[in-house]
Amino acid sequence: MVNKIAAGEVVERPASVLKELLENALDAGATRIEVEAISGGRRLIAVTDDGVGMNRDQALLSVERHATSKIREVDDIEHIHTLGFRGEALAALASVSRFSITSCPRGEETGTEVAISAGKLRDVREVGVPPGTRVEVRNLFHNVPARRKFLRTDQTELSHVRQMFLVHALAHPEVAMRLVVDEREVYQLAGEATLEDRLRELFGRGTMDGLRRVDYRDVEVSVTGYAGLPRTSRGDRSEQYVFVNGRPAGAPIIGNAIREAYQTLIPKGRHPVLFLFIDTDPAQVDVNVHPTKKEVRFRRAREVRDSVLAALRDALETSGPAATSVAPLAEGPVTRPEEARLKITDLPELEPFPYPRMAPPGAEAPLPAGPADDAAVPAPDQPSHAVGKGPWGWCRILGQAGGLYVILETSDGVVLMDPHAAHERVNFERFMRQILDRKVKSQGLLAPETVDLSPQDALAVRRNMDLLGEMGFGVSDFGGDSFIVDALPACLGNSSSETVLGSVAASLERAGPRGGTEHWAEEQIARAACKASVKANDSLKTEEIEQLIVDLAAAEMPYTCPHGRPTMILMSYSELERKFGRA
Ligand code: ADP
Ligand code: MG
Repeated sequence: MVNKIAAGEVVERPASVLKELLENALDAGATRIEVEAISGGRRLIAVTDDGVGMNRDQALLSVERHATSKIREVDDIEHIHTLGFRGEALAALASVSRFSITSCPRGEETGTEVAISAGKLRDVREVGVPPGTRVEVRNLFHNVPARRKFLRTDQTELSHVRQMFLVHALAHPEVAMRLVVDEREVYQLAGEATLEDRLRELFGRGTMDGLRRVDYRDVEVSVTGYAGLPRTSRGDRSEQYVFVNGRPAGAPIIGNAIREAYQTLIPKGRHPVLFLFIDTDPAQVDVNVHPTKKEVRFRRAREVRDSVLAALRDALETSGPAATSVAPLAEGPVTRPEEARLKITDLPELEPFPYPRMAPPGAEAPLPAGPADDAAVPAPDQPSHAVGKGPWGWCRILGQAGGLYVILETSDGVVLMDPHAAHERVNFERFMRQILDRKVKSQGLLAPETVDLSPQDALAVRRNMDLLGEMGFGVSDFGGDSFIVDALPACLGNSSSETVLGSVAASLERAGPRGGTEHWAEEQIARAACKASVKANDSLKTEEIEQLIVDLAAAEMPYTCPHGRPTMILMSYSELERKFGRA
């Protein structure tokens, strides 16, 4: 009875059976694991491993409630190195299924088979089996009709089973893993693989294009894996895989850190693709939060949060377009891809320019006129901070589509850029940098302008006069709901003071109650101001577009505007090949 009740917590569906059995196989040091499922796992979940195995006594003991070989004293629970430790799973499974465990210790000839049905021992016998352990769970919940009713269709249960397999396959690329469903092989994954191998095998060859490597190591915490570029974000969290000390698990603070890292990169309601491995001293992690061990707690939550945030920022800030291809800056004359397979002979002459061909941002050098010449390529001995940072080795502007989007051909693929979003990003970062350095440049207007605001907006502006002043706004109170604007932050160019002040006021209201920290308000103002400023900028020369590309490449977060919309969309050549069926 007690076991059945415990089963209620641990075993919810066939996928939870698989989870417990996989954990046991991994804890047993398996290098090869085979999983079989029949009818979505209701009729059978079987896991066979080549781990340490058990002798007769151990096998009999393993199905007893609270029998575990993984902890000896209660203090051991403070530093758990294994996936299991509660000693509940096998006892629980055996109480709600037709269960058998067959095991043979390494180096022995004969093993033991223990058969149990609905918690009653049916048979114990010697069998000749290879070293390792095989557990079969048949007819799950055959004796618990209430539970059985909650199982979904075979298809649904199977999708959970596959997901469970996949999660463990990601966490353990070193282990060879095979999945057989209804007697057909679904996965056959080689052992001693890398995470990258596994990602390709499980998600398709193109996956790596959308991922950046995460590699952050601190004394206390290391965060590794892959983070999805903003353009690969999804409407749900189904492709977020987080592992804590090798255990698939989440914690609220990790979710928060992820949200914060991507906050300005992807729109609200979208979620990044993530494969994150957080490793820390087991003594710092409490895994005993819930019987299913899905959630953990960190003793030093802040440090973990900071590490995850820093790891993601590092990964996303290096502005190459993809994890696998960061093109070095082209030196010398630019060459097109060798294997061009078609040449259009009468295209308008537009040379690709080595990238970037302009002086690094900040130097504010004049634009070179005319198309690229060799002199514009930075000499090899010149300190060129842009090397390896630019998104592409070279690029050229092909034209414009839809009256807005700029089309670029680059060394890595075809890029569509939204110049408004790009401008916003560039302006925003420039503005924020000035604010943080306390060096905002203010530019006086030719003639002061009177701006009338709504009563609410007026109140917000009036409350924040000092802050606005520090941020380069020259605003004075004209009484009522009117203000006189005689200066704007210089980086906003010649935008209309009415639009800028209006949108700044609106976001000040939002900033106020939300923590009210000065930094938050500054960021809000900067975002709103930049949004308002780009609207005014409606025509661009090719040279200005080039400058924009260079500026964008130097941005910390080049792929999205400060509101999370993409600034550019890259179609890599490999993606095009796939789409055209050439791969
Ligand atoms: P826990 O994993 O929490 O210890 P379980 O009920 O899952 O509890 O397993 C009980 C014990 O049975 C384990 O501690 C382990 O000693 C043994 N055991 C279970 N599965 C295997 C296996 N695949 N190989 C070797 N030993 C196993
Ligand atoms: Mg276990």
